Amino acid sequence: ISKSGWDRAPSGHRPVAGELPLADVQLRDLKKSFGSVDVIHGVDLSIESGEFAVFVGPSGCGKSTLLRLVAGLEEASGGTVAIGSEDVTRVEPADRGVAMVFQSYALYPHMTVEENMGFGLKMTGANPEMVRERVHKAAEILHLEQLLQRKPKQLSGGQRQRVAIGRAIVREPKVFLFDEPLSNLDAELRVKMRLEIAKLHNDLGATMIYVTHDQVEAMTLADKIVVLRAGRIEQAGAPLDLYSDPDNLFVAGFIGSPK
Ligand code: ADP
Ligand code: MG
Repeated sequence: ISKSGWDRAPSGHRPVAGELPLADVQLRDLKKSFGSVDVIHGVDLSIESGEFAVFVGPSGCGKSTLLRLVAGLEEASGGTVAIGSEDVTRVEPADRGVAMVFQSYALYPHMTVEENMGFGLKMTGANPEMVRERVHKAAEILHLEQLLQRKPKQLSGGQRQRVAIGRAIVREPKVFLFDEPLSNLDAELRVKMRLEIAKLHNDLGATMIYVTHDQVEAMTLADKIVVLRAGRIEQAGAPLDLYSDPDNLFVAGFIGSPK
């Protein structure tokens, strides 16, 4: 990828020259049950190309399961997942064009930053020169250039989280998926990383789906908030619309209540 691919177009939401892949996400009547327990009850949702969507809701409402269905880490019990124009419902996770950002403790402790960031791409069979190039590009974006030879334990919490994000960038996914990536950081660092993630979305223009139970994170990051309750969407819309015009008391209580 050339450097220009990471720059933003002057007018649109899309990066220059369209070098980075970009796709919308469409969920249609998506269902998941574990054994006899229905966890996701037939979700319909459209996420536009370049949109930052946030799934929010109380613990156990199905946020992670819904994200994992998009990633292909859970098999749908019914309905479809489409990414771009492709129905990926039965496609393997590695072939969906998505990358998941895990919490920073998921880094491999025995590998350097460079090896951690390149590992996923290397596993797909990419040649070493390409892996190296992409890792260095991602390191530049995340200001990790000076830290590539360190091991995770030699990094601060914020640096570790940036490495976890770097692993996803290196894959050049059409869709970035985040599952509560900041929940094991202290409050101050969480605010800092939240700003970095907002900047990353702005710089890359990529479609992102972000799971959190933190209303403040949802309000500040989202183009679209999706409020989930017991495996169903209560309401989806722009943060201010949900805030000022909630469909029901649950949404009002959840978005309106200060944390
Ligand atoms: P959230 O991320 O919103 O906290 P989850 O998606 O993790 O919620 O879980 C939703 C529901 O599905 C919970 O009741 C949880 O116990 C259940 N669940 C999640 N994964 C599994 C699994 N692998 N097997 C059985 N039940 C599961
Ligand atoms: Mg979860």
